[in-house]
Amino acid sequence: MRLPLRNYEKQLLKTAIDYVNDRIDKPIKEGNLADWFDRIARSVTERKALVAELNEVLQQEDIVRLAPQLREVRGRLRLEYVLDGNPYEGRSWAVIATALILDERYGLTNRLKRCGNPDCRKFKLDLNPHGRPRRNCNKTCQRKAEAAASAERSRRRREKAKRQKRGK
Ligand SMILES: [Zn+2]
Repeated sequence: MRLPLRNYEKQLLKTAIDYVNDRIDKPIKEGNLADWFDRIARSVTERKALVAELNEVLQQEDIVRLAPQLREVRGRLRLEYVLDGNPYEGRSWAVIATALILDERYGLTNRLKRCGNPDCRKFKLDLNPHGRPRRNCNKTCQRKAEAAASAERSRRRREKAKRQKRGK
């Protein structure tokens, strides 16, 4: 069963997606957020390689820690782990957001998509998912993404033909 996201986790994820989409082609100081997201969206192999890199960053000192806390929820006590400190300080929020997407219990890992339109490249992550995740933003992006993919396919075919010709 899928683990529900807590409100501050949802907020964190929304912030991260908006942040990176607003600066899609610019270098940003919060770690390599766009690069991390891109690798999650790209392939399972890329994702696995990212885990080691992210763990290294998570162990650094400036990263926010999880603090255990007993909380009363609907009259019953439960032990919860909450982010200790300001998660929006430094780059820790970006790291935590990426780690949340990689945590497979939330079912978000395969739902992070990147628009295929080369002029757009925005990330999408639907936090209240229904059905299959959409990759492109809208019809316009969809059309441009398909055109770019088909141009890329014929470019590859030409390259391949050239290589085979040279090989003979
Ligand atoms: Zn788009």
